Amino acid sequence: MDKHWSSRTRLVHGGIRRSQYGEMAEALYLTQGFAYDSAEQAEARFIKAEEDEYIYARYGNPTVRIFENRIAALEGAEDAFATASGMAAVNASLMSLLKAGDRVVSSRALFGSCLYIIENLLPRFGVEVRFVDGTDNSQWMEAVTPGTTAVFLESLSNPALELVDLVTVAGIARGAGAKVIVDNVFTTPIYSRAFEFGADVVVYSATKHIDGQGRCLGGVVLGSREYIRGTLEPYLKHTGGAISPFNAWVMLKGMETLDLRVRAMSASALKIAQVLEGHDSIEKVIYPHLPSHPQYSLAKSSMEQGGTVFSLDVKGGQDAAFRVLNALDLFTISNNLGDAKSIVTHPATTTHQRLGEEQRASLGITPGLIRVSVGIEDVNDLLQDLWQALDAA
Ligand SMILES: *Cc1c(COP(=O)(O)O)cnc(C)c1O
Repeated sequence: MDKHWSSRTRLVHGGIRRSQYGEMAEALYLTQGFAYDSAEQAEARFIKAEEDEYIYARYGNPTVRIFENRIAALEGAEDAFATASGMAAVNASLMSLLKAGDRVVSSRALFGSCLYIIENLLPRFGVEVRFVDGTDNSQWMEAVTPGTTAVFLESLSNPALELVDLVTVAGIARGAGAKVIVDNVFTTPIYSRAFEFGADVVVYSATKHIDGQGRCLGGVVLGSREYIRGTLEPYLKHTGGAISPFNAWVMLKGMETLDLRVRAMSASALKIAQVLEGHDSIEKVIYPHLPSHPQYSLAKSSMEQGGTVFSLDVKGGQDAAFRVLNALDLFTISNNLGDAKSIVTHPATTTHQRLGEEQRASLGITPGLIRVSVGIEDVNDLLQDLWQALDAA
């Protein structure tokens, strides 16, 4: 891998390995196993598999390896391990590291399933968990005491789009000897500077922007070679969270267009968010690169663009929000994000339904809140559709 290549080039060429046929598109090795030339070779491989030697697809697969190498090259990480879903990645990043008696500090504003792992599962195994308001550096400072094993956070939270000041939090964690694990889905790999800002481990749901066309589940954990091969791989290869080679191949092809898609989607998201701020039916528009965002300066300094998602708080609560959703023509009501197709979600009654009303309120998830994932359609078509739906409601 040429270190001078920019990220857009790495997305197309990173990790490539060609077979003896010299295929242009990455080969899809849809195989669970690998044949050995001799009993001695099988024995040697079980003692130590070298970089391009495989044993069983739960441990590794050549197509999966291209995907892992490509995303590691993009992020500037030493190594990566791909998983069956984003949640398999989050779970393994924590479970492979933690043991009874350890302590984890996490921001409270988490994706529902991440919250389940940290709030419900970890304490069952004797891990002490402490939640903080991720936007408040003083709470991190107070909670991350020496001996804390890990800090977990989403760099940009869903759906309230709050940022964590990663440089500061990583500094606090380093002082306490804690590993920093960042769920970076909303920032996307395109704007990610998580390792540069001090993260030790970065986790993605590849289901979102990396596939980007709503086809497959997938995930990936990135970090130092020591962590990925020494801590994470033994856990994952024996517990079965491996990605299908087919899904890894889809993700690889998704990566080729990731930069183009995410930049176009983010430009549209900014434009739509700016215009909608002027609509009478709206209480507020939440988007990191709007000057009205409470962490605007942090968002400007830490993210090159504002991301592909914004949230709208419409006047009139849930009834009004439902009327808007039902009046939309081009936007689809669904719960994925980062897709080529634009998607709207009502978090309070779907993705965050499980939380109580009080918890939702503390996370800024009001009854009128609509999360909008902006796709690659024409921006004016999207704007017109949202505007007419807000008028109709
Ligand atoms: C979607 C998502 C996940 C889980 O990913 P899956 O691929 O659905 O398992 C985890 N964290 C965040 C922030 C997400 O958006």
